[in-house]
Amino acid sequence: MTVLEEPIKKILDIKNYIDNEWVESEGETVNVVNPATLKVIARVPISTENELNEAVDVAKEAFPDWRRTPTLIRARCLFRLKELVEERFEELSRIQTMEHGKTIDEARGETRRGIEQIEVATGIPSLMMGCNLEDIAAGIDEYLIRQPLGVFGIIGPFNFPFMVPLWFAPYAVAAGNCIVIKPSSEDPISQFKLAELVEEAGFPPGVWNVVNGGSSVVSAMLTHPDIQGICFVGSTAVGRDVVYRKCGETGKRVIAQCGAKNFLLVMPDADMEKVIAACMTSFYGNAGQRCLAGGNLVIVGEGLSEPEYEVFYNKFINAYVDAASKIRVGYGLDDSVQIGPLRDRNKKERVGKFIERGIEEGAKLTLDGRNIRLIGSWPKDCFLNPSVFEDVTPDMEIGKEEIFGPVTCVIKARTFDEAVEMIHKNPYGNAASIFTSSGKWAREFQYRVECGNIGINIGIVAPMAFFPFSGMKNSFFGVLHGQGQEAIRFFTESKVVIQRWF
Ligand code: NAD
Repeated sequence: MTVLEEPIKKILDIKNYIDNEWVESEGETVNVVNPATLKVIARVPISTENELNEAVDVAKEAFPDWRRTPTLIRARCLFRLKELVEERFEELSRIQTMEHGKTIDEARGETRRGIEQIEVATGIPSLMMGCNLEDIAAGIDEYLIRQPLGVFGIIGPFNFPFMVPLWFAPYAVAAGNCIVIKPSSEDPISQFKLAELVEEAGFPPGVWNVVNGGSSVVSAMLTHPDIQGICFVGSTAVGRDVVYRKCGETGKRVIAQCGAKNFLLVMPDADMEKVIAACMTSFYGNAGQRCLAGGNLVIVGEGLSEPEYEVFYNKFINAYVDAASKIRVGYGLDDSVQIGPLRDRNKKERVGKFIERGIEEGAKLTLDGRNIRLIGSWPKDCFLNPSVFEDVTPDMEIGKEEIFGPVTCVIKARTFDEAVEMIHKNPYGNAASIFTSSGKWAREFQYRVECGNIGINIGIVAPMAFFPFSGMKNSFFGVLHGQGQEAIRFFTESKVVIQRWF
């Protein structure tokens, strides 16, 4: 066991970043606590509405000059930012572990995925190109140009404090817009550190702003007349009922990426060893706090007789529970650890309530992660080991709702059709995977399943920066998605020009 050096040595006082200045908020502050050690590592302000208004004002003022800045020059700011993030790669990753709890490997993955967004956005000169067509009528041509809109608000969740705002921010500014980011107040340090690099990268004042806080800052963003659009990532309750609804009322563009309950299907012809390895990361990685995490594991008996199905099921479950019980849990800066703590005590308590509810509903708790076994002697307050529930049905609360913790709910399905039906009855539609060696079932699955992100022999369907991050049903509200070309469409207006040549 080796615990890596912590990059945060004394309590950080987080400031807002407005107009390239570090501004102290007048709002009250709350502590940011490392969930593994329970040490306070930062204080974050709950900013006032005035402070948000000030950030929007400077962003609005910066917009005319920034949009006139040639695309290649805007791209150069992003190239510099990418280089600076690469230089601080390890420090930024360790900060994520300290403020969120995820393991250092998961944090390094998050930093890399964030960098990739910046890299893709540097392609702005071609990403933003319009098109033209000669002779739409005799002697008349038509052009399509893409123009930035003004100021956008970006609201982040707690589970990917570094990466998620980067699903949007680089594309927004590359396209010539100005932004105000509101990170999750639970782990705001990554965006604070990123803003330091934004400052060094040479973005002009007002282009990239960060205002810390909670729901009051979000409410102010949603009603602000000078914000053209909102990118939100978080729970369905907030994304659908607050953000999407309010943006409809105020006429703002919106991307709202929300909660999930992801189904993973295991067909009898799948490679069991590989499935189990993939499921360990899918269900337990990031302590289950991922919108792409496995939720329900459906063991499908397609083509098997009843006795054959029992043999297949038992063999699989025994190996699964054995692998889950061996997962090493501890402080994420110990690089031998595979799962860190949940973000805080409340989140652990919420998962604990789901476990109690599952028992009440009649599911069988085969592996109880509440028996905490840690690598190292850390306070146990925020930790849970992996749990496995068997005999789950899709209409139980644990089979239906997002648990957001290290819990596998195992469901039996006799046929492929029955399993697909279960997915369709679930209110969410973020991701679903199938493990099979049959092209037929793989094709059927991707063709029929109503989820935005489909995995074939993959446990975590993480789309890369050049593809949109999709989602359906209660997992997504809006039309265009974050990342890549779709993000550019979201952050620009298509204007058409018709010209007659005299
Ligand atoms: P959350 O909804 O509690 O918070 C998200 C953001 O909204 C935070 O910045 C928070 O300060 C703000 N907020 C919270 N309550 C609010 C309210 N009542 N009014 C206005 N703003 C409010 O979500 P979370 O717990 O930070 O994140 C976890 C959730 O995010 C999970 O449901 C997860 O599935 C989802 N998520 C989805 C995706 C995706 O791409 N679909 C990605 C990551 C996380």
